[in-house]
Amino acid sequence: MVIGIIGASISGLIAGKRLAEAGHDVTIIEKSRSLGGRLKTVKLDDLNLDVGLTHFDVNTNTFGSFVKKQEEEGAVQKWAKEFNYYDGTKLLDVGPNSDSHQYYTGTNGLQSLAESMSRWVDIKSEEKAGGLTYIGPDRSKKRSWMINLTDISVFECDAVIIATSAVDAYGLLQTVQNKTESRRIIRHIDEVRYDGCFSLAATYNKQELPDWKGIECENSAIKWISNESSKLNADQAALVIQSTPAFYREHAHKSDDEIKELIFEEASDIVGSWVHHSKSTYLQNWKYFKAKNPINEYFMELELDDAPLALIGDYLGGFSLENAFVSGYNLSEYWKKKYTEVTV
Ligand SMILES: Cc1cc2nc3c(=O)[nH]c(=O)nc-3n(C[C@H](O)[C@H](O)[C@H](O)COP(=O)(O)OP(=O)(O)OC[C@H]3O[C@@H](n4cnc5c(N)ncnc54)[C@H](O)[C@@H]3O)c2cc1C
Repeated sequence: MVIGIIGASISGLIAGKRLAEAGHDVTIIEKSRSLGGRLKTVKLDDLNLDVGLTHFDVNTNTFGSFVKKQEEEGAVQKWAKEFNYYDGTKLLDVGPNSDSHQYYTGTNGLQSLAESMSRWVDIKSEEKAGGLTYIGPDRSKKRSWMINLTDISVFECDAVIIATSAVDAYGLLQTVQNKTESRRIIRHIDEVRYDGCFSLAATYNKQELPDWKGIECENSAIKWISNESSKLNADQAALVIQSTPAFYREHAHKSDDEIKELIFEEASDIVGSWVHHSKSTYLQNWKYFKAKNPINEYFMELELDDAPLALIGDYLGGFSLENAFVSGYNLSEYWKKKYTEVTV
């Protein structure tokens, strides 16, 4: 089959890789110039800093095997087993509920994980899918679906996978003309709500590097502080500071400069006043950081045998990198069995 996947983050990339390996002709359409979605790395003073996901852990064998392979290939590395903890008044070496666990990160920013996964499929980047046209069993047309791109060109395919946030998936499904079939899915994903957050990356001239790798925070407007220099063995301090969703809701309307100042103010209570004296900064606004009420299914499928369409992503099953991976992986396993006899 010719398969068009919308979205080049972990769920779309793993589904694409596995379906391409099974002989399907896969193209991923990505609206941004860079791949990875919420795996986002920015370069600041020559350092690659993760302003999206900064680290992850492993809970399933499927994801564990994948991570092991990525580690062997040099795309990911082991980072820490425990993080420091801020309880709202003081900084502790470990949190009260800490269970020593292996956490991983990228070797040169986590976005490079997406880049390394993209080599198995064709990617059309900077191409936004604006809608879908259902052709179905019209035999005068060769393919069952048209993905309409916002530059007014179209991509024709036999099957579509939407690997975006629930909000983007909702917008795309609303354009499907065969409304009755898509209504069930639309009703479900319309209910998914997201939290937002800010990530502030900052570099420093500071000679002395922090002696912690990351700080999990409670009773604060800050949720997490990552010592990015410890991932890179850099000789210059670099942090990524993530706000809580509550901070995001309260301050999202403010200017970037005001938000940066407020985040530094909060972070200075945790790590010290030196955080104010940054060299360079980058503020990332994540409107759709994390699904508050994920759907309890790993993927959803439109039941049209002549025109397969499925939804994958982290909001199906949870809100973690591993969920996104398992969602794409499980759909690819299902489709590999279902469509093995289909020829291109
Ligand atoms: C600040 C932050 C911290 C996080 N911390 C953790 C953590 O500690 N542990 C953990 O496990 N996870 C964490 N996550 C979550 C993790 O990053 C996500 O679960 C995972 O990256 C989601 O992948 P996905 O495949 O669902 O899609 P996404 O990353 O949401 O990507 C969707 C892709 O679709 C593209 N797209 C959307 N609409 C269109 C369109 N119309 N046309 C073409 N392309 C389109 C987007 O540009 C994007 O590239 C964090 C995320 C953020 C932002």
